[in-house]
Amino acid sequence: MISELAQRHGTPLYVYQLDRLHAAAADLRDALPVGTDLYYSVKANPHPRLVAELAALGLGSEISSTGELFSALTAGQRAERCLYTGPGKTLEEIKTALDAGVRRFSMESVTEYHRLAGAARARSVEVEYLVRLNGNAAAGGGTGLRMTGASTQFGLDIEAARSAPWLFRPAPGMTPIGFHVFPATNVSDPRTLAAEFELSITSVRTVLDETGFEPRLIDLGGGFAAPFAGPGERPRYPELRETLTRALDTSLPGWTEGRPRIAFESGRYLAGDCGTLLTTVLDVKESGGRTYVVLDAGTNTLGGMAGLGRVLAPSAQPEDTRSATGEDGGLDQFALVGPLCTPLDVLHRSARMTPPWVGEILSIPNVGAYGLTASLVAFLGRPMATEVVLATDGTMVGVRRLELREMEMGK
Ligand SMILES: *Cc1c(COP(=O)(O)O)cnc(C)c1O
Repeated sequence: MISELAQRHGTPLYVYQLDRLHAAAADLRDALPVGTDLYYSVKANPHPRLVAELAALGLGSEISSTGELFSALTAGQRAERCLYTGPGKTLEEIKTALDAGVRRFSMESVTEYHRLAGAARARSVEVEYLVRLNGNAAAGGGTGLRMTGASTQFGLDIEAARSAPWLFRPAPGMTPIGFHVFPATNVSDPRTLAAEFELSITSVRTVLDETGFEPRLIDLGGGFAAPFAGPGERPRYPELRETLTRALDTSLPGWTEGRPRIAFESGRYLAGDCGTLLTTVLDVKESGGRTYVVLDAGTNTLGGMAGLGRVLAPSAQPEDTRSATGEDGGLDQFALVGPLCTPLDVLHRSARMTPPWVGEILSIPNVGAYGLTASLVAFLGRPMATEVVLATDGTMVGVRRLELREMEMGK
C-alpha cells in the first residue's frame, strides 16, 4: 500500500497516517489529568492537515514563528487558540501575530515584555501573557535536551521573576495570566517525567506564594518522548495522570474549577509515529572495506539536525520493508548516505540490513516529527520531498511539495 504511493508520487516521499495521529492524541489525553488542555507544538510538523486534525480534536496550537502562524491559520485553527512562544520574537512577528488575532504569548524576558507591550498599545489590544519560568533543576537523569533549571536562553530564572513583581500586575495592553514552563524534552522514563512536572508545579507555587499572583493558566510544557527514524513504540505513562492529579491537588487546589486551568504541550509524541519516509536506493558501492548505500533522501530530507550530532539516534535504521528479519543474524552493515555533496550527508554509519539493491525502496519509520521541517532543505537545492497525508479511511487528503523561491526585495 505504502510502496504503491512511492510508485505514484516518486521518492523521497513522506507519508503521514492520520489514524496514528489520532491514536497518539488519545494516548496522551489518557496520560494526563482529566480537564486539562493540550497544545500541539507546530514546530514538530507544520503540515496544515496535521495541525487541522489536531485542532478538530480540540488541541490548541503552540506556534513560534510567522510560518507556524500561517500553518495554524491555514489549518483553520482559531487565532485565540494559538499560544505564541519562543525566545527571540521580533517586533515584526509580534505585529503580524497581533494583526492575525493572536492574543496569548509566552513572555520570555523583560526586554520582550516591553516589545510586546509597545506593539499591543500601538494597536489598542490586550495581550495575555504567560511568564516563562526557568524552574529549579530536577535530580533525575534520562532526559533529552533540558530546557529549564540549568542556565538557559529560555524564560526567566526564578530569581529574575521574583525580583520583578510588576510582571505579575496588569498594565495597559498587558495582562499577566499565568506561567509557562518547559523543563525537558523527549523523556521516555515515566518517573523522570513525573518528577519534572512535580518540580515545575513546586516552582510555580513558590513564585505564586511570593507574589500573591492569581493565575488563570499554567502551561506545564511537555517532555513526552517518541522514537525517531528507527523502529520502536511511543512510551506509555500509565501512572502520570494520578501523580499529576495529586501534585496539582496539593499545590494548586483550585485547578479542578479552572483556577488556574492547566495545559500541556507536545510535538513529537503526537506526530512522531504517524510519519514514514520512503526513499529509493540510487547506488550501492564499496570503498575501503565499507559498503555505501546512496539514497535519494539525505540530511536535506531527514535529520538535518543530525549534523549537530544529537537527533538521529545511533539506532536509527531504515527498515527494509522487503526483507527485514528483525534478527541480527545474517544481516550486513551498511553506511546509509544521502545524495548531497558532503561527507556529512550520512543518515546511518552502520545500519544492519539485508543487502539492498539499486532501485529498491526503503522505508524509515517514526519520522512524523522533526522530519522534513528539521532538515537542511535549502542545501544543494534539490526539490523537497513530497508529503502525502492518508485519512483514517486510507484516502489521500493532502499531497503537497513545498518549494523555496526567490523574492525580489527592492533596494
Ligand atoms: C519544542 C517545544 C515543544 C515540543 O517539544 P516535543 O519534544 O516535540 O514535544 C513544546 N513546547 C515548547 C515551548 C517547545 O519549544
